[in-house]
Amino acid sequence: MKKIRVSLGERSYSILVGRGAVARLPGVIKEMKFTGPVIFITDRNVLTRTAPLIPPIVRKLSNEVYRVIVPPSELSKSVAIYQDIVQKIAKKTRMHRPLIVALGGGVVGDLAGFVAATYRRGVPFIQVPTTLLAMVDSAIGGKVGVDLPEAKNLIGAFKQPRVVLMDPDFLSTLPARQLRNGLAEIIKYGIASNRTFFDYLDANVKKVLSRDKKVLEKVICECAAIKAGIVKDDEFDQKDIRIVLNFGHTLGHAIEAASKYSDDFNHGESVAIGMVMAGEIALRLEMFKADDLDRIKCLVRNAGLRFVARNVPFKEVVNAFLHDKKFTAGSNRFVLPVRIGSVKVVENIPEFLVKSVIRQYVK
Ligand code: ADP
Ligand code: ZN
Repeated sequence: MKKIRVSLGERSYSILVGRGAVARLPGVIKEMKFTGPVIFITDRNVLTRTAPLIPPIVRKLSNEVYRVIVPPSELSKSVAIYQDIVQKIAKKTRMHRPLIVALGGGVVGDLAGFVAATYRRGVPFIQVPTTLLAMVDSAIGGKVGVDLPEAKNLIGAFKQPRVVLMDPDFLSTLPARQLRNGLAEIIKYGIASNRTFFDYLDANVKKVLSRDKKVLEKVICECAAIKAGIVKDDEFDQKDIRIVLNFGHTLGHAIEAASKYSDDFNHGESVAIGMVMAGEIALRLEMFKADDLDRIKCLVRNAGLRFVARNVPFKEVVNAFLHDKKFTAGSNRFVLPVRIGSVKVVENIPEFLVKSVIRQYVK
């Protein structure tokens, strides 16, 4: 079992990565000396697809255990479902302070984390991510929240878990498209901060796709360590350090928004295109080499992802980009690659250049 420490003073915690990690849950709860009720928040797919993994663990808990099941959809990250969960918890636990365990992908993690951050002004929280994307990204770093019709994650908080248990055994039931969803974010870490890791991915991408457990474990550990290192220096995303994790996300988000968050593009599929577009912008600004951009395109392709967005209107992508909530009037900010393994923030990229690059990759 590998252990990665997220050093955040009194909010420090460990990420355990390895087969059997989830079986550590009873021991972890015992170590916490937590004797109150334990609430598992999960979604219906996770419950049925990963069914054999959980009941033996629950049987080992001496706590009262309840589960709250939400529909498997981004739509579950709503204020209505949040309220429903909190009311269910209050009723089930008769107001005893519970421990919340998020068992699922990013949707469940964000939602359950927000419940844990706010219910009775905060209760302890454990993350058990079951998708590759959640393992390498959303389950680390403490950003939790729910969506509003106006924008995603518009209501949220920082809530660090007590521990994160990452068990690659969950990934055997994950649909292939969900695996690639996570792989896009994994490639991001290579480009944004570690060239050696990018080279490793280049050589082993097929093994990730075939779910080689050893390779998956190494990749998850590497990403968790990179993210933990970044988060510890900028827990509350205020110092322009965490922003490097946004590489590929500016135009990636524009594609997701332009396709109305439909099934046409999931998050990773959009980020893959966004990373290539950011590389193209950097190339045209003469701060990035064509060879490196070709390597990115090649890895994206070998990961079973596309770098050209089809069937999404160019105009909608431009509009989504221009209306991004993160931009202040008239200016924009991009995380652009300098070389594979290193990125920097560049402001005020000429609009004609961004539009021209969107034109090239949105058909
Ligand atoms: P993410 O944001 O991490 O992609 P979601 O919470 O949107 O995750 O989950 C994506 C989909 O994968 C959901 O339908 C969810 O129910 C399903 N899912 C999550 N974990 C697993 C798993 N281990 N095996 C099969 N399906 C899973
Ligand atoms: Zn992302």
